[in-house]
Amino acid sequence: MLFLGCHLSSADGFLRMGETALQIGANTFAFFTRNPRGGKAKEIDPADAAALRDLCRDHDFGPLVAHAPYTLNPCSDKERVREFARLCMREDLERMEHLPGNFYNFHPGSHVGQGRAQGIRLIVELLNDIIRPDQSTIVLLETMAGKGSEIGGSFEELKTIIDQVRYPDRIGVCMDSCHVSDAGYDIIGDLDGVLEEFDRIIGLDKLHALHVNDSKNPPGSRKDRHAPVGGGEIGEKAIMEFVHHPRLAGLPCVLETPNDLEGYAREIALLRSE
Ligand code: FE
Ligand code: FE
Ligand code: ZN
Repeated sequence: MLFLGCHLSSADGFLRMGETALQIGANTFAFFTRNPRGGKAKEIDPADAAALRDLCRDHDFGPLVAHAPYTLNPCSDKERVREFARLCMREDLERMEHLPGNFYNFHPGSHVGQGRAQGIRLIVELLNDIIRPDQSTIVLLETMAGKGSEIGGSFEELKTIIDQVRYPDRIGVCMDSCHVSDAGYDIIGDLDGVLEEFDRIIGLDKLHALHVNDSKNPPGSRKDRHAPVGGGEIGEKAIMEFVHHPRLAGLPCVLETPNDLEGYAREIALLRSE
C-alpha cells in the first residue's frame, strides 16, 4: 500500500483535514500541531479527533505525520528559547494522544555557534525531558539540509542523538528528499547507496516517514528550498524512485511542495501512476 499525502491546514479542525485528504486522493497527511510559528495551540475537541480517527480507519489511511512548529530551536544558546521548544513539544505530545499511534516530526535545530557536540547534547536533554515511555507517538528527527549551523544534516548526527534517547522505541527519523539531496546525499544517482548508508549508520528500521519534495538547488547546496515535483534539481524520475523504492515500502509519504490543493491532487495522482 502506498501511503501518500501532503501537508494540510489544521485551521478547520481534524475531521476537515481527513475530508480534504480524501478529496485529493491522499491516504495520509501532515499538519502543524499549532501555528507554525509556535503560537498558542487551539483547544482539541475530542469529538473532532474521534471523527478523524474513524475516517482514517474506514479509509485505510497510513499513519499521520504531525509537524512541530518550524521556528522552535531545541538547541538554541538561549535558555528561554529552549524552554519554549520544550513546552510546545511536551504539550504537543500530550495532544497527540487524541490521535494515538501516529508520528510527530521536528527539526533538531541550530546550534548557533555553540558547536555540534553542544547542540546535540541540548537536543538529547530536551528529548529525554519530554518523551514518556507510555506515549503512543513516535517522535521523528527530520534529516536536514545542513544550512548554517543546523544539526541533522548527516546521518551520523542523527544517530548520535538517537543513541542517547532514553526510550529508543519512541524515537525515529523522517527523511526529507529535498533536505538529504541539499545535504549532499546522492539520491538522484544512487538512492540504493544512500539507503544502504542510512541502514548501516542508523538502521532502516528507524526510518518511519518520508517528506517528498523536489529542490530548487543542486545536490550539496545546503539551502533547503522546496520545489514542486519535477520542477527542481532532483526531478520527477528520482522522486518517483524515492516514493516507490522497495526498501521504503509502507512508509507515509508527505508532499511539502509549494502548491495549492489542486496542485497536490495532481502530484499525488502523478506519484501514484508509477
Ligand atoms: Fe520539516
Ligand atoms: Fe520536510
Ligand atoms: Zn525544508
